[in-house]
Amino acid sequence: MPFCRKCDNKWSWKQTSKKTFTLNPAMSCPYCGETQYQTQKSRMKSASLNFFILIPLLINIFFDVPGLILLSSFPIVFILIISLHPFLTELSSEEEYTNLFK
Ligand SMILES: [Zn+2]
Repeated sequence: MPFCRKCDNKWSWKQTSKKTFTLNPAMSCPYCGETQYQTQKSRMKSASLNFFILIPLLINIFFDVPGLILLSSFPIVFILIISLHPFLTELSSEEEYTNLFK
């Protein structure tokens, strides 16, 4: 779980998921109110988490999975991604930008 760089308080799962699911990259700390940003590294991690949604489709390529099972696996994978997301979140006091040409 992430902790605030300013006041060192750990954010709860609920607080983190609530803050990260708004599209605004600036998240205010629930303890000190300081603006925190998700680090570039943790943003990459959460992006890779989204690939899990493709797993049922990949399985379907190799095995003959009944459509109903395939469809019902999507909400499960989706819930899994949402619940794992706050664990991968790391905070930074400054907004980081990807510089691919560095
Ligand atoms: Zn704080």
